[in-house]
Amino acid sequence: MAVVSGYNFQIDLLCPQCGAPAVLEETQTIIKCDFCRTRNILHSHPYPCFYMAPGLKNPAGLSVVYVPYWRFKGLEFSLGEKSPGFRVMDRSHLAVDKIRLPLSIGLRSQTQTLKFIRENLVGKFLPPTISRKEMLQQIAGTGEKKIYIGEIFSLIFMPFFQDADILYDGLSGKKLAITASTLMADTPAPVYRLEYTPSLCPNCGWDLRGDADSLVLQCNHCNTFWVIHHKKLIKVKGMFFDSCPGADLCLPFWRMQIGFKTLECGTYAHLIKLANIPESIQEEHKHQAVYFYVPAFKINPKLFLRIARQTTLAQIEPTRTDKMPTTQFYPATLPLEEGLQAVVPLLMDLCANKKEIWILLAKEKVTLNAFTLVYLPFQTSGSEYVQDTLCFSLPKNSLKFGRRL
Ligand SMILES: [Zn+2]
Ligand SMILES: [Zn+2]
Repeated sequence: MAVVSGYNFQIDLLCPQCGAPAVLEETQTIIKCDFCRTRNILHSHPYPCFYMAPGLKNPAGLSVVYVPYWRFKGLEFSLGEKSPGFRVMDRSHLAVDKIRLPLSIGLRSQTQTLKFIRENLVGKFLPPTISRKEMLQQIAGTGEKKIYIGEIFSLIFMPFFQDADILYDGLSGKKLAITASTLMADTPAPVYRLEYTPSLCPNCGWDLRGDADSLVLQCNHCNTFWVIHHKKLIKVKGMFFDSCPGADLCLPFWRMQIGFKTLECGTYAHLIKLANIPESIQEEHKHQAVYFYVPAFKINPKLFLRIARQTTLAQIEPTRTDKMPTTQFYPATLPLEEGLQAVVPLLMDLCANKKEIWILLAKEKVTLNAFTLVYLPFQTSGSEYVQDTLCFSLPKNSLKFGRRL
């Protein structure tokens, strides 16, 4: 498997309103058209299905065979017995077995753009024989349980030229040292339909605000927040911590109330005990519900755990606001379901050196009882963003890097 870090493909597509050409990054879902000025949300559930157009060096006008590759990018947390391990994953892997073809899409493809699979594409398409689930199992390997969050998962069809038994790379036109006799593709392009919805507030019809890679959009007219989820815009409760005046950036966090199957961690009293918080347990702590906070944005896994821990330990009390702050909102790029996945590694981090808890957590099943989106204000200070009340900071570069994850 090739490991390429922090690279995003660009996607060529057409504006669904006026047909003008538009470009998206792999991490983006909102198409902003420079021509007709509309904004549309692109839905590619369960995963996007792309192809890369063949290069111009087609030897003697041969037929094109497209071969599928899975692409995976995300943060991996491994729930070992020593600590929650983590790493950034960025991989591609051949999605057909029993055929000797290049195992990954390789670096050379990074100069090319992707296009969405559409009907009537010329060429033969080899159907994938390795499922998405099998691909994930291959990535995870055996051993410790792994959790993946913030992932990009897509299927990319790469072009090859076929001349009887000879196979050529579809991008470079180079002859491959592989016999093509087993490449018996005779299927047309898979059926794959893209869907779009206009980026308008379902409540009042105003244009929704938010960056092209944000999963949460806000309506400044009726003061509401909307999350893009399974082809729909779902209203979410948005809250703010601290007053925002003077802030340079508001960062989104998922605030979750969690149900545990075995672990006792429903109240602040439980958290004091589990996380060894230097505070004596008071009667009111036994009735105070505990909230877990995880960043609603992608950032390197080590920092992700650190700020989740700091915010959760603070048990902040956010409030609602009648007026949307004018501060810049950092895009929420991590879906709520994946924020929920991060609760177990977060708890492992909170219960440092408690082996018996880790063993319990590795098997734990968590459920989401309630959630809110909470914005924390940050001020810029040199190369960092600082949260004054909670006394922590984030390097500006870490957000830049996270945007490409
Ligand atoms: Zn347009
Ligand atoms: Zn509205």
